[in-house]
This record gives sequence, structure tokens and C-alpha cells, in this order.
Amino acid sequence: MTRGDYRRVLQSLSPRIVTLLGDGEPLLHPEIVGSVADTSAQGARPMLATNLAIGDAALFAELVAAGLDHVKVTLSHSNRERYRQIKGRDLFDTVINRVDLLRRAEASLPIALEFWVTRDKLGELCTHLELVRDLGLDSAVFLLEQPKGQLAGHGLDSAMMMQVAEAIGLASRLGLRTNLASLIGRAGKDSTAVSSSGRAACAFPWLRAYVNQEGRAGPCVDLVTKAANDSSVQLENLLADQGSFVGQAFRNIRLAFRRGEAPHPTCVGCRKGSLGALCGCVGPYRGKRKRDPIHELATDTRTVDAA
Ligand code: SF4
Repeated sequence: MTRGDYRRVLQSLSPRIVTLLGDGEPLLHPEIVGSVADTSAQGARPMLATNLAIGDAALFAELVAAGLDHVKVTLSHSNRERYRQIKGRDLFDTVINRVDLLRRAEASLPIALEFWVTRDKLGELCTHLELVRDLGLDSAVFLLEQPKGQLAGHGLDSAMMMQVAEAIGLASRLGLRTNLASLIGRAGKDSTAVSSSGRAACAFPWLRAYVNQEGRAGPCVDLVTKAANDSSVQLENLLADQGSFVGQAFRNIRLAFRRGEAPHPTCVGCRKGSLGALCGCVGPYRGKRKRDPIHELATDTRTVDAA
């Protein structure tokens, strides 16, 4: 997407928060600093989702000067060897050093380390929290790894619960914000956005738009990717169709949810957009500025039109 197209998308959506992420690493985009600046100039808060596979002090300083509002760093493992196995490259120390560089670029910049949780990674929870502490950050975000519900629905045995309890206690002692308690508390409960019976409660079509590099827009990456050629879900293209967040395509998706229907098979069993999932994941993003962007959106009635 060119910078001109990006500006058109910004004008079309008038977002309050923009997460810059990609099918690849967003820091590789030659216009990433300009995109942050455009987002900020539009009055929205630019957030970067990155694996920090690239970046140096100069780039981070430019991003901060351009108005970067907060950063989410995906760190799949806090264990160097497992990180190398997953990534295929020994970049663990490099990424950790870049987190430190980013923090030095702006001490008050909220940075959340994101860690994907599966049953076999419960033993790494404390290691991850200690890493967050060592880096001088105040937030650790834990997400349930795909396939959806890998923890939920299977229960946790007593040994696993001990690992979780130990991590929650450590976070408390270290003074770290974490969504671990609420995340694990949801495990085993039915918090899906759309149940198998079809009743729907996904909030994303009211709150946010995912726009890919070609301009295709939908409430989430899954729908934009999987429903690309499905005529039953008429996603719009913000560049070709001059569509918008309040355009007919988004309204159709919202109407389906309001009727309690799944607009697309992908939505059945999905838990991402449920209000419970949103509320369970927002806490750690407050950061040092004590702001909570997703919660602000969720409670701002101006962002919710009547479909
Ligand atoms: S239910 Fe899931 S797949 Fe469907 S729109 Fe919401 S987040 Fe996307």
C-alpha cells in the first residue's frame, strides 16, 4: 500500500487507534515512519505490532518523533533455545536488545511483550515475567495460541494450575500488569464470539477494521483472509470501492451478528471478538500512560452505529 493510499484509508475510516502490522514485519516497510506520522497527523494513535527482527536506535527515535503511541512485541518464547527452534534463527538476544533500545528511545512509551500460551508452554510463564521485569517493562500480555481454545475446553490439571498460580503470584510480587488471571479464568468457559448454535456476540465489526495492503477491509484478519472470495460476506475494498467503516459491507456483517447469525463459517467457534475476550486482554496495554485504548473504544458509543 502506497503512502497516498494509506492516507485515503485513514480519511475513510477516521480511526482513533491504528495498529500497524503486516503479513510480514511492518518495520520492513519503507514508509513505516511516514505511516506513523500520517496516523498521528490524522488524530489517531499509532500502535506498532512487531517481532523486532529488524530495527536500530535511529529508527526507533524516528518512530517516537513521528508520534508512535505504543508497541506490542511478539516474543513467542522467553527461552532462547525454543525461540531459535521456532524462528529457525538465533535472534533471541538481538530482539531483547532491540526492546531495550526501544525503551531507551522513549522511557514512557508503553511496550507490551506478547507471549502465546499453550499447555506445553505453561512452564515458561515465570521466565517470561522475569524477562519483562529485567527489561524494565511493566506489562506482560498472554494470548491463547491457536488452535482456538487449546486451553479452553480441556481443563487444566492440578500441576498446570500450580504453574499458573505461581506465575500470577510472581507477577504480583514483581508489580507487573498481566492479563494472565483473566485469561486462564476464561479457559474452559464458553466465551466464543459465535457458538455452535450460531448465536453471535462479536464486537469487532462495531469497533475496528482490519485493512490489508490491497485495501480489503473487514472486522478481523481472519474474515479478510478466509472470506476473500466468499460472496456471502461482501467485504469492501477501501481503495477500489470508496467504502468506509459505516459502508454497506460493514453494515451487512453487523446486521448478521445482530440477528444472532454467523456472517461467515469462520466466525463459528471464534472467541477473538467476544466482549469477554476483549476485556480479558485490555488490561496490560494500559502501560505507563494508564490509558486503555481498546477499552476506550469499547465504551465510546460514538464508535457504535446502529448497523
Ligand atoms: S467472530 Fe471472529 S472471525 Fe468473525 S468477525 Fe468476529 S473476530 Fe472475525
